[in-house]
Amino acid sequence: MPLSSLGPRVLLRRLREVMARPETAQKKLDTIVTLIASNMVAEVCSLYVMRPGQLLELYATEGLKREAVHKSKLRVGEGLVGTIAAEAQLLNLADAQSHPAFKYLPETGEEIYHSFLGVPILRGGVTIGVLVVQNRTSRLYSEDEEEALQTTAMVLAEVIASGELEEVALAVAADVAHVRSHHLRGNNLAEGIALGHVVLHEPRIVITNLIAESIPLEKQRLEQAVESLQENVETLITHAEGLRGAEHVDILESFKMFAHDRGWLRRMREAIDTGLTAEGAVERVQNDNRARMLRIDDPYLRDRLNDLDDLAYRLLRILTGQVGTAAQGNLPKDTILVARSMGPAELLDYDRQKLRGLILEEAGATSHVAIVARALGIPAVGRVQGVVDIVDTGDPIIVDGQSGDVHVRPPPSIEQAYAEKVRFYARRQAQYAALRNVPARTLDGVSISLSINAGLLVDMPHLHDSGADGIGLYRTELQFMMAASFPRLSVQIKHYSAVLEASNGKPVVFRTLDIGADKYLPYLRPIKEDNPAMGWRAIRMSLERRALLELQVRALLRAAAGRELRLMFPMVAEFSEFKAAKEVVERSMAALKARGYELPTSVKLGTMIEVPALLWQLDGLLREVDFVSIGSNDLMQFLFASDRGHARLQGRYDTLHPGVLSLIREVAMKAQAHGVPLNLCGEMAGRPIEALALIGVGLKSISMTPAAIGPVKSMILALDLQKFRNFLDPLLARPEPTLRPHIERFAADNGIPL
Ligand code: PEP
Ligand code: MG
Repeated sequence: MPLSSLGPRVLLRRLREVMARPETAQKKLDTIVTLIASNMVAEVCSLYVMRPGQLLELYATEGLKREAVHKSKLRVGEGLVGTIAAEAQLLNLADAQSHPAFKYLPETGEEIYHSFLGVPILRGGVTIGVLVVQNRTSRLYSEDEEEALQTTAMVLAEVIASGELEEVALAVAADVAHVRSHHLRGNNLAEGIALGHVVLHEPRIVITNLIAESIPLEKQRLEQAVESLQENVETLITHAEGLRGAEHVDILESFKMFAHDRGWLRRMREAIDTGLTAEGAVERVQNDNRARMLRIDDPYLRDRLNDLDDLAYRLLRILTGQVGTAAQGNLPKDTILVARSMGPAELLDYDRQKLRGLILEEAGATSHVAIVARALGIPAVGRVQGVVDIVDTGDPIIVDGQSGDVHVRPPPSIEQAYAEKVRFYARRQAQYAALRNVPARTLDGVSISLSINAGLLVDMPHLHDSGADGIGLYRTELQFMMAASFPRLSVQIKHYSAVLEASNGKPVVFRTLDIGADKYLPYLRPIKEDNPAMGWRAIRMSLERRALLELQVRALLRAAAGRELRLMFPMVAEFSEFKAAKEVVERSMAALKARGYELPTSVKLGTMIEVPALLWQLDGLLREVDFVSIGSNDLMQFLFASDRGHARLQGRYDTLHPGVLSLIREVAMKAQAHGVPLNLCGEMAGRPIEALALIGVGLKSISMTPAAIGPVKSMILALDLQKFRNFLDPLLARPEPTLRPHIERFAADNGIPL
């Protein structure tokens, strides 16, 4: 039996007319099933809707007994209808009754029908109902008929969920992922706890027009949108290649593959042929894709389908013109931002007064958006898989930046527990604040200098709030990364002057540009690299692009006129690199002097110690530098040959490895012998147990994220350093992967808060 000559397009138009009528929901559904049956020349058309308890209830029918409506129910997985719902896949059968899953429901009188075509009604990949047509004769339905019924099911899904059939929507809502509570886990990026409401960084797209007026026009719109999408992806790849993590480029490469995937494009074109608009077609194909995604266990394939889902979103954005982020909209006063990924500059676009927390599907602890979140003092959690798909704007949500927990639509018990936790956290913060002016001195009288790491002007108030001694590391590249073009001399001078002004006489160590690896400048043409972390970055780039370094050095010298300037070079692997950088500074000073500019009262030059090769050049280096600072983030990754941003390697090697601690002890001894101040400014300095170990091996100065100053200082105030050294020294020779448990035990036995 062929598809009616009226075809699905006419059906869609009729459906739209029915939806516009001022009738009850039930009446509309009754009319819709009749319309579908007559359009598809089927003797039966039935609609089943998911009810609470995973039950599919017969909601409307043409052809089956009317008395069965609202009485016949099937569990998910039960009968043919339940099977379609469970697998989110269509069933096309010439003889339904011979299918093993067939279940006879006497009240419906369906035994006389043989052929059966059923499709899931999907919303966000979740089954919210099943639509069925049946005929007496035994035959398989054609592909066109399958297409037509799937398209109709999609329009029905929109109608059900858009609230036009409110009572049905409510019944559906009770079971879908979007109303349940969820507990998710990620990596903690920035300290703190926040309770608030979800704001999606990229607001969900609202499609208002699913039914096409003109098929050729919709095809043209799709072609144009796909072209722009392909261009966008190319641009993203050119920017990412070479200067960002390999993982990121991989994702983009798979984007590119999908953006040119003929199967995907063909399926969207076919969906338009059934009478959908271009955006309707994208969504239709995206729905199928989502349903597949929910049923796939293989993590690799799931990731690829996830990429495709992301790409479909981008395409919808282009088609609907809904670009821009939530930063431009109205924000609730307790905004918790949720996004797949985000750049540091985008985060700064939000109103700080309203921002309470951040949750990302991507981003690791050393990513730059994490660094900005810490600077803003908002709790943040990264690598929270799937969060974007299960939240809606306005949902209550909790982000725990200590444990990495995220609670979506938490039940009252969790909310109360967290409200208590927030009060506890606030009390702790108050205790730390009370230590603000207390010197960081151990019980046996050893003073430890605590500084903060910074990189933005928003960091500066923390210098005073935390009571830190100064800024041990000012990452100048952050300002460059946030600019749209290379900051001119005057802009740089203004920025560094503002930093020095705000530091109010406390020392600031500026680090020259550390670009490369995961930090890239959008306006600098990237080069292709296989190993960007070990590539053309930091001082290597600065010495080759000498004009950039000279410009920055001149800006720093001028900003520090009449004051002290401390300047440090990143990723120095060789003594000669320091010498070359030093020459740039000396030449710049001479040039400024010749032109009559006032110079800093003193200029102190140092290097980071983050490349292992430098460890065997210490004697020569320490004779020349004014200070050194260990960059343990990079040093660890190079010592263990273990990528610091690699998700699978997180936690594999411990910073409290006896080998690492012995090495740091040796550096500390050498620096002391040469009378050169030594600092450590990697992330480990901000964790009390690691700070304890560092002080134990001889560090007198450490630099950390501002929120860590309080906890680290409390640890120091309870420490008998000599006693700890006596305990730690013999352990350093042990062949163990970490001394963490030993140090924890010492702290517990001696009442040291960690
Ligand atoms: C480090 O490597 O430890 C460091 C402080 O520098 P960055 O994290 O900016 O690479
Ligand atoms: Mg580094």
